[in-house]
Amino acid sequence: MAEASQSETGFEVDGLSPSRVERPASADELSRVIADANSAGEAVIPWGGGTRMSLGNTPERYDVAVDLTGISGIVEYEPADLTVVVSGGTRIAELQAVLGESGQRLDFDPPEPAAATIGGSLASNAVGPVRSNVGGVRDLAIGLEVVEADGAVTKSGGRVVKNVQGFDLVRLHIGALGTLGIITEVAFKVSPIPADTQTVAGWFDGLDAARETAMRIFNWSFQPEALAVLVGARALAVVQTLAGPGDGESEAVVILARVSGGFSAVRRQVDELTSLFGADMADGFDVLGGQDAEAAWAGSLPDAQTPPALSARATLKPTDAFAYASRLIGASNAVGAFGATIHVGTGTVLADWPGGDPEELAKTAAAAAMAAREFRCEAVFERYPSELKSEIDVWGNPGPAIDIMRRMKEQFDPKRTLNPGRFVGRI
Ligand SMILES: Cc1cc2nc3c(=O)[nH]c(=O)nc-3n(C[C@H](O)[C@H](O)[C@H](O)COP(=O)(O)OP(=O)(O)OC[C@H]3O[C@@H](n4cnc5c(N)ncnc54)[C@H](O)[C@@H]3O)c2cc1C
Repeated sequence: MAEASQSETGFEVDGLSPSRVERPASADELSRVIADANSAGEAVIPWGGGTRMSLGNTPERYDVAVDLTGISGIVEYEPADLTVVVSGGTRIAELQAVLGESGQRLDFDPPEPAAATIGGSLASNAVGPVRSNVGGVRDLAIGLEVVEADGAVTKSGGRVVKNVQGFDLVRLHIGALGTLGIITEVAFKVSPIPADTQTVAGWFDGLDAARETAMRIFNWSFQPEALAVLVGARALAVVQTLAGPGDGESEAVVILARVSGGFSAVRRQVDELTSLFGADMADGFDVLGGQDAEAAWAGSLPDAQTPPALSARATLKPTDAFAYASRLIGASNAVGAFGATIHVGTGTVLADWPGGDPEELAKTAAAAAMAAREFRCEAVFERYPSELKSEIDVWGNPGPAIDIMRRMKEQFDPKRTLNPGRFVGRI
């Protein structure tokens, strides 16, 4: 195992730095690191690709950063079984490349695959556009190996698709932000890569015009692999790429519908989508493949190079997602170029604000949280001005289940070794 290095840059969380960085190369090495930290009463923050460290409340303590990218690689893969076992520190792009050689893929497309790791993506329950069609990563994971807060290595689920007896511990750790255990190995169901994939982009003047068409596609006879509506700065960037710099009203809204399958099926679905955009008086539309499609879908995500200062995520009924997005547009005047993506299939609205005065951003966040509550859901702030984070819980109100969650944390991690204070209710 690489020698633990004293504190170094690049592992800060909300302005806090660890006193040392550990780089285990296996689950056994990690087990020793965690057991030692646990008995020393130290607080550990697990690091995968570090692309989503902004998610979570400010840590209550932070002594050790554990870089997990050394625990990487394919453990077991038999294409005929359509399952793969992979280490937790493996980059998503690395896994997809190996699966791709056998014409297969993991139906999971969160942002930043070159940096994002399997473990970090599961722990933060990362989502990508295909989620609306195939379900989230919870539905793809069939087995898990975890290092617990006292260093114990436990396995749950299996390596083949089968019914598992007892509590579903696999799902327990997905989205738990590493507060109950560190994911060191995952078994997944994988799928064949479709013969053809095309994206149809249509742009409209205003959210109301686009909503009708998007909901018609959502309720259609065939389900697109991914269906997203881009609003504000995100839409403008895509329209100006597709229709030219001069075009694109400031109210522009873009619908992206991705279809995949056999060539003739895709051709028929593309024809149906383009005739719908034509019939629904879209300002324009285009059929995109390859890099053009990738560029348009990249526009549906926040830019990793210039991360936004404020990001909010809320999941509503698909019919409410549009009304909620309109409320966010209204709440954004004070802080400029707002951008949002509505994943129609799941009703998830990802919104962000590039920058501005922290106090103004906090007011905008409060308006976003209030708007979400009117639709009986909670806004989660993926990014929030760190100097003001102590004033809120970025996860919103966790509801009555928080007591059981607290007891689970006490059971799994009584000394609060793992990511203490970062999760809902500052668990
Ligand atoms: C600007 C930007 C915006 C993004 N927005 C979104 C978004 O809105 N939705 C989305 O889904 N993704 C988003 N992402 C994508 C991000 O790439 C994913 O969430 C990614 O999958 C996280 O993986 P990671 O390895 O980088 O995780 P990290 O950032 O390293 O870790 C994420 C969390 O998981 C914990 N953790 C890390 N590894 C483990 C492990 N092995 N076991 C247990 N806990 C662990 C960490 O302590 C941390 O709390 C965004 C990325 C960027 C750059």
